[in-house]
Amino acid sequence: MRLSYKKGVYFFEEENVLLGFTDKSFLGVNVSKEVKKVADILGFDFKALSCLKQIHSSKIFRARDSGDIYSGDGLFTLEKLRVLLIRTADCLPLFFYSYKDNLVGLFHLGWKPAYKGILENFFNKIGKFKIELENSYLLIGPGLRKCCFEVKRDFIGFNFFKNFILKRKEKYFLDLGSFVKNEFIKRGFKEKNVLDTRFCSYCLENFYSFRRDRTQNRTLSFILQR
Ligand SMILES: [Zn+2]
Repeated sequence: MRLSYKKGVYFFEEENVLLGFTDKSFLGVNVSKEVKKVADILGFDFKALSCLKQIHSSKIFRARDSGDIYSGDGLFTLEKLRVLLIRTADCLPLFFYSYKDNLVGLFHLGWKPAYKGILENFFNKIGKFKIELENSYLLIGPGLRKCCFEVKRDFIGFNFFKNFILKRKEKYFLDLGSFVKNEFIKRGFKEKNVLDTRFCSYCLENFYSFRRDRTQNRTLSFILQR
């Protein structure tokens, strides 16, 4: 994967799509100010910014009104020069893009939104746009991975995740990254189009981890099409 890094921002560009996420060089608190800083560093212009008030839900929105903050955990847009933004510290940022169909999306994926069906909702909502899923891409950003995503024993009762729970030394771990890959591939994504940074927010000290640090700071993830 061609992930580049510049002054605190990991980024990736393909055709007209630019996406990325910040490290601890950013606090991830003052979102509009920090997005401008990211834009300065990477040298891009944008016309609008869409953010979420994240509530660990299955709600996703088509972002198109100016200045709105949506209560939910996923955004998508067909507009050019609109930055979609989410904040995370352990949950996985998921970047969806189909540059042929001019659609980009961004999700805040913890186990709750996954369990409540946020991905199902997304695929239902984009159904009417006739997106070519076999020519779409997904990138999985930094978050808790199977090495560190310990879950309580009751979790094995969630049949939903049953193939993605690992047992090590009487402890249980959720492999949310593999769950996500499977969800997209079973809906028609090519395996090679599901790109994984494999970054673990807990293992890698340059990312915020709520579980490790109880921090209020966040990784900022963004996507836009130009
Ligand atoms: Zn880890």
